[in-house]
Amino acid sequence: MSLRPTLDFLLYQWLHAESLNQRERFADHSRETFDAVFDTCERIAREKFAPFNRLVDTQEPHFDGEQVILPQATHEAHKAYAGSGMLSAAQDYDEGGMQLPYTIEAAANCFFAMASVSIGSSLLTKGNANLLLVHGTEAQKEVFARNEFAGRFSGTMCLSEPQAGSSLSDITTRAMPDGAGSEADPLGPRYRLKGNKMWISSGEHELTENIIHLVLAKIPGPDGKLIPGTRGISLFIVPKKMVGTDGQLTGERNDVALAGLNHKLGWRGTTNTLLNFGEGKYPVGGEAGAVGYLVGKPHEGLRCMFHMMNEARIGVGTAAVMLGMAGYYASLDYAKNRPQGRPVGLAGKDSAQPQVRIIEHADVKRMLLAQKAYCEGALALELYCARLVDEQHTAEAGAADDARLLLEVLTPIAKSWPSEWCLEANSLAIQIHGGYGYTRDFPVEQYWRDNRLNMIHEGTHGIQATDLLGRKVLMEGGKGLQLLAARIDATIARAIQVPELAAHANALAQALQQVGAATKAAWATGKPTDALANAVPYMQGFGHMVLAWIWLDVALAALQADATKSTAVTAGKLGALRYFYHYELPKIDAWLQVVASRDMTCADLPEEAF
Ligand SMILES: Cc1cc2nc3c(=O)[nH]c(=O)nc-3n(C[C@H](O)[C@H](O)[C@H](O)COP(=O)(O)OP(=O)(O)OC[C@H]3O[C@@H](n4cnc5c(N)ncnc54)[C@H](O)[C@@H]3O)c2cc1C
Repeated sequence: MSLRPTLDFLLYQWLHAESLNQRERFADHSRETFDAVFDTCERIAREKFAPFNRLVDTQEPHFDGEQVILPQATHEAHKAYAGSGMLSAAQDYDEGGMQLPYTIEAAANCFFAMASVSIGSSLLTKGNANLLLVHGTEAQKEVFARNEFAGRFSGTMCLSEPQAGSSLSDITTRAMPDGAGSEADPLGPRYRLKGNKMWISSGEHELTENIIHLVLAKIPGPDGKLIPGTRGISLFIVPKKMVGTDGQLTGERNDVALAGLNHKLGWRGTTNTLLNFGEGKYPVGGEAGAVGYLVGKPHEGLRCMFHMMNEARIGVGTAAVMLGMAGYYASLDYAKNRPQGRPVGLAGKDSAQPQVRIIEHADVKRMLLAQKAYCEGALALELYCARLVDEQHTAEAGAADDARLLLEVLTPIAKSWPSEWCLEANSLAIQIHGGYGYTRDFPVEQYWRDNRLNMIHEGTHGIQATDLLGRKVLMEGGKGLQLLAARIDATIARAIQVPELAAHANALAQALQQVGAATKAAWATGKPTDALANAVPYMQGFGHMVLAWIWLDVALAALQADATKSTAVTAGKLGALRYFYHYELPKIDAWLQVVASRDMTCADLPEEAF
């Protein structure tokens, strides 16, 4: 199975990605240049990523007391990815980039995520450098961001602390001005940081010359105390090794020490670290304290960090999709080759007959179609959101603002829906393999383990749900939700005229109405405790409604491309559509019922009753 035809269909026949070339920014591009990028990425993923996916799982990173050791294959994969220019593909020509649309960059990265999700951690480096391009000074861009895009340095995001994960307002890492003249440092106001950062991905390794940590820390108020809440949080560049204004390493190490590697369930190709900042292990200029350069204004750190959240969350959602897709392809292949059992005829089973392949059993087909519906549908959603990112940045003002608001509402779904349902797809892929799926002789158990992370990081499932119901559907007078409803209505209006889609169009109209009613009912008392008690069921209902819309819209494009329904590809898309409407969409009744009735079964149960 190849991902390419599915991607091509979604990009060119559904999203009309080549029309982006009419925008000035992308004028030099064409379908040919997009395809050339895909060819290169597909090849690198096939040669440098896929063959080592199991290796990076079994040869976990380890610390020899001096250095973190990673397999040679990880070094090679990093080199090949950086060498392809993909780190800066979406950047301006002036930055050495290709001015590639984000839609195309996101699609190209699918090949790597499917081949080996954890061998590369380029998303973090790109996100880090992108943030600096927007919020950094000229010197910070030159010394840090550009070297990250070039692959010399890599980047991290240091938000979480052992005691502060979902609740970032409780971080305690401190930043103090670094003495006289510190505010005039050419790399930005210079501070000394002290504190511990937990769960930092790619926090230590030897893949690049240097690691550029972007660290959230608090500058104490005039009374010396940390300012409570998120208001007190600022953002700092803390390089692992000190760098001069010429971008060269000075030879001095910064005071950032690896306290330990976390041993994870999956995603083992990427190191995950507990880092101690400023404990004095590597004093700089004879003094304890990690040197950090302020980015943006003091106390605006979280705002800067949020700048990159939408793209980071689309990235996480896409990784979840591609892990699901990898499991789908593996289980499809297995189901086509595994003989087991016989069909039940009117006279029962005839054991004299040869066994059939398990793909011939209706229940196995059910599990395959579920995976296809989850993963191809979610891939379409991620690409749709990526296209909105391009709209936000390059469309005329009104359309750009609509794209911004739609992204606000859709991003929690783009992050969370695949994290839950493409993980379920991985579970079904294991089920199709029977006992073999539960062993390391087949790849599907690793896909499930790798995918299990996605409901946890970049805002847990619960936090995303609270963001959706507590903030996103309400913001700007509910305009984002109204915009989404208008797009869904437009799809319904087209689909209702197509006889074989009309019933689905009606079902979607009802689902949209149910989501609207549940949103109102959840907030009927105006109390967040009532509304948010069932935020996750709300997000599940909302997400399924969104995916039903995506599938209906994709089906319209499939019928437009193949009106006579002559190909197996069209049959597959229509089959997945029907699966989604018959087996999945009806689930929203139960999810939205507890939301609309503000059911307090869980919230009110006293602790002692558990
Ligand atoms: C492999 C891995 C890689 C990571 N990479 C990074 C990284 O590079 N940089 C970084 O900064 N962080 C990283 N993280 C951290 C990750 O973002 C956090 O684990 C996550 O934010 C959750 O924080 P926590 O683990 O402290 O759990 P907690 O915040 O303690 O949450 C535990 C549970 O309680 C729930 N909960 C918490 N608060 C609420 C609430 N207010 N309402 C409802 N439910 C709530 C959560 O949903 C969750 O189910 C990574 C984590 C892992 C596991």
